[in-house]
Amino acid sequence: RLKAENFTFEAEVNRMMKLIINSLYRNKDIFLRELISNASDALDKIRLLSLTEPSVLDTLGDLSIRLKVDKDSKILHIIDSGIGMTKSDLVKNLGTIAKSGTAEFLSKMNEQSQHHKEMNDLIGQFGVGFYSAFLVADKVIVTSKHNDDDQYIWESDASNFSIVPDPRGSTLQRGTQVSLQLKDEAHDYADVTTLKNLVRKYSQFINFPIYVWNSKIVKEEVPVEEEEVEQKPEESKDDEAEKEEKDKSEDEEVVEEATEDEKEKKPKTKTIEKTVWDWELLNDNKPIWTRKPNEITEEEYNKFYEALTKDYQSPLTKTHFNAEGEVSFKSLLFVPEVQPSDSFNKYGTVTDNIKLYVRRVFITDEFNDLLPKYLNFLRGVVDSDDLPLNVSRETLQQHKLLKVIKKKLVRKALDMFKKLDDETFKKFWKEYSTNIKLGMFEDPSNRARLAKLLRFQTSAFPESLTSLNDYVSRMKPKQEHIYYIAGATRAEVERSPFVERLHKKGYEVLYLIEAIDEYAISSLPEFEGKKFQNAAKEGLTLSQNKEKLEKMNTEYEPLTKWLAETALKDKIMKAAISERLTDSPCALVAGMFGWTGNMERLAMANAH
Ligand code: ADP
Ligand code: MG
Repeated sequence: RLKAENFTFEAEVNRMMKLIINSLYRNKDIFLRELISNASDALDKIRLLSLTEPSVLDTLGDLSIRLKVDKDSKILHIIDSGIGMTKSDLVKNLGTIAKSGTAEFLSKMNEQSQHHKEMNDLIGQFGVGFYSAFLVADKVIVTSKHNDDDQYIWESDASNFSIVPDPRGSTLQRGTQVSLQLKDEAHDYADVTTLKNLVRKYSQFINFPIYVWNSKIVKEEVPVEEEEVEQKPEESKDDEAEKEEKDKSEDEEVVEEATEDEKEKKPKTKTIEKTVWDWELLNDNKPIWTRKPNEITEEEYNKFYEALTKDYQSPLTKTHFNAEGEVSFKSLLFVPEVQPSDSFNKYGTVTDNIKLYVRRVFITDEFNDLLPKYLNFLRGVVDSDDLPLNVSRETLQQHKLLKVIKKKLVRKALDMFKKLDDETFKKFWKEYSTNIKLGMFEDPSNRARLAKLLRFQTSAFPESLTSLNDYVSRMKPKQEHIYYIAGATRAEVERSPFVERLHKKGYEVLYLIEAIDEYAISSLPEFEGKKFQNAAKEGLTLSQNKEKLEKMNTEYEPLTKWLAETALKDKIMKAAISERLTDSPCALVAGMFGWTGNMERLAMANAH
């Protein structure tokens, strides 16, 4: 007999399991989604390996996920023909928390565990993984066969675990079988109908076939012998015997006799009902992005989005397109309704927001350069026919076509934003305005397109925001510049002496009151041929009357000289006669190339 080795779980795992069990008891269903998604990941891994090394599939060619229940002993098996786990994989992957994502999840769960809703969001965002099996099982047995090792059995009752070489040898050929000894209160999951519903609900977009071992009744015509027909009345009562046979894979029952008519023409037959057991396919594993957009319902898109992102809110909008030309690819991009609150803390780090496929084969979601940083809130898939399949992921990262794909993705995304109706755009802007403004710096080649999306507060109306297009359309005939002023609040800039003269003349002024607004505008030299003029910067010329200004300059030179050289020496660069004031006697103005007060304020805030 082979001896089992005993192990204890890492402390983090124990914490994780406690959290899962205490917080998700109302949400038990998710265990199946998690285990199926692990199976799917494992299948992705072996399929990816097989691209460079086809022989890895020699052990087993079929790539699928299979569910099977043992109704009497209340055991549910989830079987995949994925990459499998070696003995050391079993110890590491199912005994520790290797992934930083999970550790992060843990810390957040602790911080926020009071707020039920936020916790649900978190669970949604992270997925809780393998240990959710203990939501429904007293005992979990994982049998796994990796190409590089023998078949092993991992077993745990949640307190510690053991590993033993499988005495039966490599029955799986390759892959993993997770067997759950269901808890009393979870016996429902030993019911095929329940499982079918859960797979439809949570796992319909898994790109591998998911089967369940199920029985069905089929009708079949079989020839009858003469005596059998006469015995018929008795036979139909004979259902006690039938029941005893129900666990066999085939039951037979005579249902009806051939009609008189048929008897004359053909040899005598009868229709029997047979119970046959077989693998029933539960999902349509044709990827949604390969289908025609006009044949996909809104609900299907939403369901796919949910499966992809684990975000239970429907997306704000999406674009589904087929790019052709230098590179052909299909893509489906979504804008989530809300952006995770910590997304700017993680700004620019690798995200798993876009899944890259090559000819329907999942390659990776760890590209950090498939989208520019400012668009990292997009979620979706890209599936290219033109990228090479048989190269390593690293080589693929460098592939020149990826640049072309990136460029097209950005264009399509910006197009999608532009086409939003007013209502949706408002929501979009509320959530993603900072991203778009950051894009003004990050993405000079799309600056003009991004500028069209910008919205600002304006002196023209109190509540709603204006686009630059609309500002320009309201400009006075002789107005040359787009005027703006930056500050901390609308109230502050409204009262600013800098804007007085502009107001008087009836010029509209944009109020840039978000921290990043002024930076965004400063990256934009002009819009539709109109230059921007900061009301708080030198160079604001309103009247064409240069002579008058020069005259005043000379007249008041003693005063300006005295201010700059004596009264405010070392405090200001220079003093000048201004045209911008009406009621206020003076104002502090930033130099043409200097920082404005607002930018200085922001720089100070950043430094602290
Ligand atoms: P995650 O899937 O987010 O990595 P899980 O807790 O779901 O976290 O799974 C932990 C690890 O266990 C996986 O990363 C994987 O390495 C391994 N694993 C789980 N299920 C399987 C499986 N069916 N086949 C192969 N490896 C698996
Ligand atoms: Mg997982």
